Amino acid sequence: MTDKKEMSAPQKALLKLGLARDIDLALHLPLRYEDETRIVKLSEAREGDTAQIEATVTACEVTFRPRRQLLVTVDDGSDTCVLRFFNFYPSQQKALAVGTRIRARGELKGGFLGWTMMHPSFRAAGGELPNALTPVYSTVAGLPQAYLRRAVLGGLARADLSDTFPPGVAVPEAVFSRKNGQRSAWGLRESLSFLHQPAPDVALATLEDHSHPAWQRLKAEELLAQQLSQLQSKRERARHRAPALAAPAGGLHEKLLAVLPFQLTRAQHRVGEDIARDLARPVPMHRLLQGDVGSGKTVVAALAAAICIDAGRQCALMAPTEILAEQHFRKLIGWLEPLGVRVAWLTGGQKKKERAAMLALIASGEAGLVVGTHAVIQDQVQFRSLALAIIDEQHRFGVAQRLALRGKMQESARPGSIAARPPQGDAAPSGGSDPRSGGAWGLSVSEPHLLMMTATPIPRTLAMSYYADLDVSTIDELPPGRTPIVTKVIAEQRREQVVERIRAQLAQGRQVYWVCPLIEESETVDLTNATATHEALSAALPGVMVGLLHSRMPAAEKKAVMSLFTGGQMGVLVSTTVIEVGVDVPNASLMVIEHAERFGLSQLHQLRGRVGRGAAASACVLLYSAGDSGRLGETARARLKAMAETGDGFEIARRDLDIRGPGEFLGARQSGAALLRFADLATDTDLLEWARATAPAMLDRHLEWARRHAERWLGGKSEYLKA
Ligand code: ADP
Ligand code: MG
Repeated sequence: MTDKKEMSAPQKALLKLGLARDIDLALHLPLRYEDETRIVKLSEAREGDTAQIEATVTACEVTFRPRRQLLVTVDDGSDTCVLRFFNFYPSQQKALAVGTRIRARGELKGGFLGWTMMHPSFRAAGGELPNALTPVYSTVAGLPQAYLRRAVLGGLARADLSDTFPPGVAVPEAVFSRKNGQRSAWGLRESLSFLHQPAPDVALATLEDHSHPAWQRLKAEELLAQQLSQLQSKRERARHRAPALAAPAGGLHEKLLAVLPFQLTRAQHRVGEDIARDLARPVPMHRLLQGDVGSGKTVVAALAAAICIDAGRQCALMAPTEILAEQHFRKLIGWLEPLGVRVAWLTGGQKKKERAAMLALIASGEAGLVVGTHAVIQDQVQFRSLALAIIDEQHRFGVAQRLALRGKMQESARPGSIAARPPQGDAAPSGGSDPRSGGAWGLSVSEPHLLMMTATPIPRTLAMSYYADLDVSTIDELPPGRTPIVTKVIAEQRREQVVERIRAQLAQGRQVYWVCPLIEESETVDLTNATATHEALSAALPGVMVGLLHSRMPAAEKKAVMSLFTGGQMGVLVSTTVIEVGVDVPNASLMVIEHAERFGLSQLHQLRGRVGRGAAASACVLLYSAGDSGRLGETARARLKAMAETGDGFEIARRDLDIRGPGEFLGARQSGAALLRFADLATDTDLLEWARATAPAMLDRHLEWARRHAERWLGGKSEYLKA
């Protein structure tokens, strides 16, 4: 490696683009191609063509009107063309002296004065024509195309591109084509060489839409690497140890079931069994519990916690916002304290003294359950015997936070603590005795079980790819007696009608949410908006308590407002999006979302899920404002349409994926993770299926090939895929 100080500017620019290894260079594929393989006659060219001509300069002059420019007339024997340069050096002027023959390339424009080319590239005529299309790469300042091309070709020549599809592993259909009358599969080196320098007769459309077999090969390789990495981390985890937690007959789990004011739905029962089965094994659970808003995930979490606490271990439940954490805390205290469980509470805004008391409860092991925000994963928090960590609304947490939680889990499982007891039986061999373990691919560490919950269901293709390392349970049924939420999309101008609706709901003893949008980068504007709405509604609804809640309020004030609303004294709650996740007030029957066009689809769905939690018929009003243009943007319209058409969280998630693409959908999971660069989950499901079927066999029978393949494609990035 060269010292950074000694590097040239283009070398530094290469690093900035992430092109450090030969393989990185080889995988830096062209954005598009230019055809420099042919010389075009001006008489045969068409308006708008990017053409390469060879011609003799017949005039060369600098004019000053309308501004300083160099005008060069050339003649190729069939017609003439004027080359126009606004920025030019004396050296260029010299190279374009009358009588010189040049080769020029640029976009042809026809005018009544004849052909012109603006700022064409040019050089002396003659010389061999390339026999492949010229690639154009994405680049950064200080890195000229010519330098980058040479670097890429160098990397391509040096990189180890030997095949990592082991013999006997079937290659996907799409990678085959007929070459010289024979059907054969495209190899990796062959594919990359081709994509960097395609033959001029290739159908450019197949390169542009990535359907060419060379592209298919790359996508297959990439998807396989992703599957290998996910499957590997799943298997690795299966070799870790975790405390086996079984629910004894007549224990806390049964007692909790008995005191619940309702019967579990069939779906809740089923996912509860999935979890109980996982907890009973001496291997860490890594399960995602997905269920639409209002499907009743909290009670499932509480039942899992009961099993853990009954076994004498601690359980932590982490929520993304203070309001949500507080609500869980109340609910869980209500269910569990009468059964003799001590519940601790941790949050950022807590008083020092209270916090110290909580930390002591946690460290002594006296607190069986710890509920809180991010505060739960902070350094000072020392669990005595953490055995189960539950993350609510997991998509709201970043990768770093999830990694921190894993760290905390391992800390509490250090040798000497009860959680590190060797497992019974032979289900989980320790790392040392397993020949396949060692290095980054297999360390045996004891750790607690992990349950992640989300109301944003993961569409199937994402579940198969980015989340393939998780086990997934789904609550696909709402508790009985809920009436579907009617969703209305209403223009801002009809606001008065909405206020009428609010009056009607209040008259029936119901409560109402009114949510104001989050305007990014400007919490102040946000606040003005919410405050103005709060005032207007207070004036329009005399005798009704109208509350205001926003993220800048002190925690105590938020708490006070929330408890007035939860308690039923407050009729209308105006808020910014602080109520976005998880708040549960069954008596609320109307949700108004102002400037609904500014919200994301899953956010709208989450917000809507705040109503329809009781037996009363509920509605959601999406107030939109088309702004000055008078027209809503296309994606905003698609979102509102989706909301009006379906209440099904899975369908919403699928449409959201369509509208936004997986990058954004993945939110935190993708940051730092190896996002797919070549494959597209929307179109490459066949390749994905192939990769999914191939990965297990490859890990079983060709571990060395698998290792080489993952290393080549993921380098050091695979760690993040485990979070
Ligand atoms: P979410 O899945 O959105 O987190 P919650 O756990 O907050 O949903 O549950 C929503 C509401 O439904 C709560 O008031 C909860 O007590 C109630 N609930 C949960 N399970 C049932 C059930 N089986 N029958 C009736 N009500 C239930
Ligand atoms: Mg919830």
